[in-house]
Amino acid sequence: MPIDIKSLNYEELLAQVEAMGEKKFRGKQLYEWMHVHLARSYDEMSNIPKALKAKLEEQCSYTSLEVEDCQISAIDGTRKYLFALADGNMVESVLMHYKHGNSVCISSQVGCKMGCRFCASTLDGWLRNLTPSEMLDQIYAIQHDTGERVSNVVVMGTGEPMDNYDNIVKFIHLLSDEHGLNISQRNITVSTCGLVPRILDLAEEDLAITLALSLHASNQEKRKALMPIANTYDIHEVLDACRTYFAKTGRRVSFEYALVAGVNDGEEDARELTELIGDMNCHVNLIPVNPIKERDYVSSTHEAVLRFKMRLEKNGINVTIRREMGRDIDGACGQLRRKHLERKD
Ligand code: SAH
Repeated sequence: MPIDIKSLNYEELLAQVEAMGEKKFRGKQLYEWMHVHLARSYDEMSNIPKALKAKLEEQCSYTSLEVEDCQISAIDGTRKYLFALADGNMVESVLMHYKHGNSVCISSQVGCKMGCRFCASTLDGWLRNLTPSEMLDQIYAIQHDTGERVSNVVVMGTGEPMDNYDNIVKFIHLLSDEHGLNISQRNITVSTCGLVPRILDLAEEDLAITLALSLHASNQEKRKALMPIANTYDIHEVLDACRTYFAKTGRRVSFEYALVAGVNDGEEDARELTELIGDMNCHVNLIPVNPIKERDYVSSTHEAVLRFKMRLEKNGINVTIRREMGRDIDGACGQLRRKHLERKD
C-alpha cells in the first residue's frame, strides 16, 4: 500500500521525507502545500524539485476529490456537494453560511451501518471508512471552490464517526494543527449515535471539541424503536458516558433531538427528557425531522416544536431550534448520494 501522504501528521511527514533522503525543510514545504495552500496534486507545488515529485508519485498516494454535483440553495446560499473519491465512491458535504462564519458538515464513512430508522445515509448499508485525508479533502475542496475560509466543522454527514475512531482523532489533530488550516478545536463538533466505549476513549484524548449525542428520544423504549444502537447501549449508559465526557473535558455536551410528530414531541416526552438530562450542563438542539421517502415519519409542526422548546426551557434546559438550511435542496443526510445511486441503477 502506498503511503497516504495527506493523512500523515507534521512530525510523521518530516520523518517520511527524511527517510526518502530529503532535507527536513522539504517536509515543511510539502505540509504547507497540502494543508495551507490546499494543493490538489504534486503538480501545483512549484518549489518542490521534479526528482522529489517523482519519488512521491512512486511511494505515496495523494487523495483529492472531484466535484460530482453541487446544489446551491436560492434561499440561504447553502451548498450541498457530492464528491467522488478516488475509488469512485461518493460522499456528501454541506457548506452553511452563518453570522459567526462558514461551517462545513462532513461525512466520515461511505454509507453507515447504524440503521437509525429516520436516516437516509444508512439505507444502503456501509461500504468503508474514510481516511483522515478524505475527511480533510471535503473541507479543502469546499474552501478551494468558494475561496472563503471555513471556520467551523461538524462531523454530522453520512457515517458514524465513533465507528471510524482512529481516523477521526487523527483528522481532528490535522485540522486543528497550527501548521495547517489551524481550525480551533472549539469550532469542531463530532456527532455520535452513542458508541459508549468510544465516547469514553474520546474523553481521554485531551481534545477541546464539542461532543454531540444523537438522543432523539426521552426513554429507552422509544430510543430503541428509532435507533438500533440503543439495543447495545442503554439510554442511561450513554448519558453517563456524556457525563464522564463533560467531567473529563469541561466541554458542554450537545444533544440532538429530531422531533417526529406524535412519536417524541409530546408533553410527556419533554417531562421525561428533563428528568433524564436536567442535572447536566448541556444544550439541546431540536431538529424537526426531515422526512425521507423510504419511511413514513412526519415532522412535528412548527407550533409543536416551539411548545417542546418552551417546556424544556421552563425546566431550565438550554435549547435551540436548528435553523433549517438549504430547505430547497436535498437537505437530509445522505439524500443527495442516494439520489445519485438511484440514478445509476
Ligand atoms: N452518526 C452520527 C452522525 C451523522 S447523523 C450520529 O448519529 O450522530 C447527523 C445527525 O442528523 C444525527 O443527529 C442524526 O440522527 C440526524 N439525522 C439523520 N437523519 C435525519 C433526518 N431525516 N431528520 C433529522 N435529523 C436526521
